[in-house]
Amino acid sequence: MDYPGNLFVVSAPSGAGKSSLVNALMELDALVRPSISHTTRVPRGQEMDGREYHFTTVETFDAMVAADAFVEWANVHGNRYGTSRQAIEERVAQGGDVILEIDYQGAEQIKRAFANAVLVFVLPPSWEELRARLLRRGEDSADIIDKRLANAAQEMDQVEKFDFVIINEVFERALFDLKTIVHAQRLKVAAQRRARADTFKSLRLA
Ligand code: 5GP
Repeated sequence: MDYPGNLFVVSAPSGAGKSSLVNALMELDALVRPSISHTTRVPRGQEMDGREYHFTTVETFDAMVAADAFVEWANVHGNRYGTSRQAIEERVAQGGDVILEIDYQGAEQIKRAFANAVLVFVLPPSWEELRARLLRRGEDSADIIDKRLANAAQEMDQVEKFDFVIINEVFERALFDLKTIVHAQRLKVAAQRRARADTFKSLRLA
């Protein structure tokens, strides 16, 4: 499917700093908007329904799966998460960029549905730092942190399936890397042709 906007997918193990990076990017770049996922997980800390996620019951989630409302969905750490098809199709069709913060299983499904999607994986600089960040975050109990660390090894093994990798050691550097990926995507010939159709036309390149 061809569409005027760009679709970016950012995956990482919990604690790698993916959300902070994506939020900082969106503050700098109003063209990039998130897609709010649906999840059956309960809200954590200050999370609000409709802001971080649409928090739903298992029954509602199942009904949405049956109605083909998700472009992708997956089971992550024992909860279900899904991206609404309508939300992303509407925005990219209007020429906006969408950024998805989803797990690697969802990233693969997105690439199948949107061949031009750009897949970015964020790695922590070390295991020690990953554990330290999860503990510092203070949002999860010790057994949940252990579960997330156990899953992280398997998640990080998926890095080869991605187009780009960012190692989040120094935040500003990692943010620069993410901005660079977004910018490079917008400079691709096909993207420029769509975004700057008038210029292409006046140069008789249409
Ligand atoms: P958390 O519970 O920490 O917010 O997210 C847990 C994991 O679920 C993260 O890896 C996050 O990227 C992933 N996730 C969040 N939303 C979605 C979604 O819509 N689809 C998929 N496949 N994964 C998601």
